[in-house]
Amino acid sequence: RIRNDAARIMSASGKMRERLDDLLNLARAGRIANPTEAISLTPLAEEARGLCEGGLAAAGVTLRIEPGMPEVLVDRVRFVEVFQNLIENAIKFTPGRPLPLVEIGVRQDGTQRTFFVKDNGIGIPTRFHDRVFGLFDKLDPRTEGSGVGLAVVRRIVEVHGGRVWIESDGEGHGTTICFTLP
Ligand code: ADP
Repeated sequence: RIRNDAARIMSASGKMRERLDDLLNLARAGRIANPTEAISLTPLAEEARGLCEGGLAAAGVTLRIEPGMPEVLVDRVRFVEVFQNLIENAIKFTPGRPLPLVEIGVRQDGTQRTFFVKDNGIGIPTRFHDRVFGLFDKLDPRTEGSGVGLAVVRRIVEVHGGRVWIESDGEGHGTTICFTLP
């Protein structure tokens, strides 16, 4: 019993440490830590792809990244993190799809340039589109992660003067995370 209890305590404290690390990360995301540079988001998304390679391969997810996206003024390290978070989510929430596909690109909405990370996974019902950006908010408590990723993404985009939102036709219809940058 002692061995069992000890294992449970270890596991709980491990989870607690993960949460603290996430919170620390969120606090850091609230300011631009590194100098901004004018750079295309394409190489940053490619860098995030490298960091997610194992997960992409294991889940058989195809990731398409638009070449030559326009230059924006960003903290490079933070935007790699934005893409990494969004790719990891897309991998996590396209389980068992026949051809899981994630697309990163940019589109023109009138005068506005909208960057997007689009997947063909389980989707998010409209009534939860705001809630998922909350701290520790998860729609399914059984999935991996502590529910901080999208809060970090929002914080990073907003600190750059941008806006982030979700487009999804609901369950089974995929999710698109969109953001703008000045
Ligand atoms: P985590 O991934 O650690 O749970 P996030 O803040 O990144 O935390 O996401 C919060 C919740 O939003 C997820 O638990 C999930 O319910 C939902 N979600 C995020 N991204 C997607 C996605 N691409 N497809 C479907 N649901 C998603």
